[in-house]
Amino acid sequence: MDTSAQISDLIDARREYAIDFLRQMVQFDSSTIQHGLDGQEYAIQQWLDMTLREWGFQTHLFEPDNDKMKAFPDFSPGHSYAKRPNLIGTLRGTGGGRSLILNGHVDTMPAGDRSQWGHDPWGGEIEDGIMYGLGVCDMKAGVAAMILATRFLCEAGYPPAGDVMVQSVVDEEGGGNGTLGCVVEGYKADAAIVTEPTRLHIQPASRGVLLLEVDVQGRATHACLKWGGVNAIEKGVKIIEGLLELERLWLAQRRHPLFPPPTITIGQIAGGLAGSQVPGRCVLKFDVKYLPEELAQDGRARKVTGDMVKAEVEDWIYTLCAGDPWLRDHCPTLTWYQHCIPHYLEPDHALVGLLASSAGRVLGRGVVSGFPAGCDARHLQNRAGVPTVIFGPGDLQYAHSIDEHVSIEEYIAAIKVLALAIHAWTSAAS
Ligand SMILES: [Zn+2]
Repeated sequence: MDTSAQISDLIDARREYAIDFLRQMVQFDSSTIQHGLDGQEYAIQQWLDMTLREWGFQTHLFEPDNDKMKAFPDFSPGHSYAKRPNLIGTLRGTGGGRSLILNGHVDTMPAGDRSQWGHDPWGGEIEDGIMYGLGVCDMKAGVAAMILATRFLCEAGYPPAGDVMVQSVVDEEGGGNGTLGCVVEGYKADAAIVTEPTRLHIQPASRGVLLLEVDVQGRATHACLKWGGVNAIEKGVKIIEGLLELERLWLAQRRHPLFPPPTITIGQIAGGLAGSQVPGRCVLKFDVKYLPEELAQDGRARKVTGDMVKAEVEDWIYTLCAGDPWLRDHCPTLTWYQHCIPHYLEPDHALVGLLASSAGRVLGRGVVSGFPAGCDARHLQNRAGVPTVIFGPGDLQYAHSIDEHVSIEEYIAAIKVLALAIHAWTSAAS
């Protein structure tokens, strides 16, 4: 029997153990508080630390250090890391092979309205081959898969030749300080896999995300005297329509084979005090997703930076305002309040090929595409200089949602693909 078949058979034999391992992870409430200002990752990190040590990993639990991270432009300030440790577990290679980081986050979003859930958010219940639970898709299944892939390789008699470093991080949902915390501690390897949910696609690139607040001023007055006031919500609608027009332009012109086009989404509106008043203020919040690079008509690639996108959006809004007598003199205040930069690894990198061929063996196909959101891969690739690919079980559309879930078949398949890829990557000489 060949190596791949032996590894795959061992994983099939350990299927119930793998399901139980994931259920135990789901049963920890590791949700974040106030978008990552605080969080409850302590217990699950302790449990994983104990498990990894039992399996021969050298571990390091440490709290991300705000002082060391604050110089980075995509650092999220004001978060507390007391009792929120990152966990690094290193399995020393048997010798000579390439090293690999496996990175995933254990924090989850809050459960939201419990009455909406058809399943216990911390139950790990299984129905028709689907496991339900808060964070099971984003991304406890990915974290369980990467840890068990490494463990099962050892059980199958193929301990990795190169070092494998598991990074189980905190505070991804709040902006990504957990992984940035690992980078500033100096942790590096020859390559990395981030096991965010990709539906088992191999994703060597992720989009950039900019969040924009537009503060529109009007002139408040009683609704019966509306002609004397200026309706800030109506002016805000003008800006929304203008930005959707810019999005349509992008849709027609901006493209990259790995990604859907860039988007502009209005996510939040706040304005007005009562139905009987002309509102004097309206605050809009937009999400702008952009591509790491764009292809021109002649096929040439153009790198895109956050500053380029910011300048284009601002210019568009200012031009729109110049055509409106009120907005020209009362230009809205624009605040870019969050930025998650994109990441891009050339799709012909060896790790992409290895994951694709491993997925081909297990699934009969190895699809390469782009991660449509922002993710921690950016810190590893852009800050630590580690070539990074995103690959994991689960579908992003079920992340951050009521009755979040993952398919058991996909989870088991992810363990197999990861095990084959880890074996192939770490077997080659560094
Ligand atoms: Zn995630």
